[in-house]
Amino acid sequence: VGIGKQEMLQKKKNAVLVDGVILNGPIMDSKAGEKFVEEACKIIMEEVIQKADDVTGKVCEWQAPETLKQILDLEMRDTGESHQKLLQLCRDVIQYSVKTSHPRFFNQLYAGIDYYSLVARFLTEALNPSVYTYEVSPVFLLVEEAVIKKMIEFIGWEEGDGIFNPGGSVSNMYAMNLARYKFCPEIKEKGLSGLPRLVLFTSEESHYSMKKAASFLGIGTENVYFIKTDERGKMIPEELEKQVQRARKEGSAPFLVCATAGTTVLGAFDPLDKIADICEKHGLWLHVDASWGGSALISRKHRRLLHGIHRADSVAWNPHKMLLAGIQCCALLVKDNS
Ligand code: PLP
Repeated sequence: VGIGKQEMLQKKKNAVLVDGVILNGPIMDSKAGEKFVEEACKIIMEEVIQKADDVTGKVCEWQAPETLKQILDLEMRDTGESHQKLLQLCRDVIQYSVKTSHPRFFNQLYAGIDYYSLVARFLTEALNPSVYTYEVSPVFLLVEEAVIKKMIEFIGWEEGDGIFNPGGSVSNMYAMNLARYKFCPEIKEKGLSGLPRLVLFTSEESHYSMKKAASFLGIGTENVYFIKTDERGKMIPEELEKQVQRARKEGSAPFLVCATAGTTVLGAFDPLDKIADICEKHGLWLHVDASWGGSALISRKHRRLLHGIHRADSVAWNPHKMLLAGIQCCALLVKDNS
């Protein structure tokens, strides 16, 4: 868009040809591209960032889906769109999106804006790295290692490892998979056919991703035993003990307890120390779903809510919730670094 014929010819004259392929473009008009980025960034600055903490603005300018479809004009045409039209689209996207950084946004478990996290995201978007190997991503690989190391320190393990996932739900599923692998390593070769009826335990207030993971992994939702909670929504350890014994009597194989540190609805923190005692007694993997509440570990005042977390075998922690990192930032951390 906007490139003059003369300019195009000039660029073609300087082209480096290897086997008939132009290595240095021009495949695009980079000057026009840069101008577009500059103008779009200005819109983002003025309409999103400078208004982020404006409590007088709306959290959402709501429109019904049919109306919004017409306003946005999302048809993808063969002819492309002009820069002006694309800039207008940027403004429309901002206008009709929910402002999650608004001080009155309370819908999901995050809110607010962290300017430094935001710039880090701009950087990663601009550099477009992939954290496959050190060769392709030297800086980000080291950043990933450093962040995981710090999270492990906050949990209180002497060593450990971790991986970032597309969601706390996936972290929970990976943890379930690891617990099952620990219980019966031959599953890798034999699959589900060689297994007894596996049973796992989690509180009535736990996140629905537990059931989903049990279904995805072929464990079955009926084999998730939900443990009663007290009036604050915390798992009752005595009830857990009873259910583990019940499962044993039934001839099934208990293998995992999932405690929740910060339940989705009530924000309850299960008593981790007492639950860890039961896991130790019965040889069960302890996973702590601290997707929401994990960030309380950073607070000197509130970290006591997670007392005993260092006894867990695995922890799911989403810094994108209470810690304001950009979405998605979800780690699954494991104590056994083998
Ligand atoms: N666990 C708990 C306690 C949660 O509150 C949530 C989400 O709200 C999740 C897991 C799932 O996290 P995600 O939405 O990142 O998959």
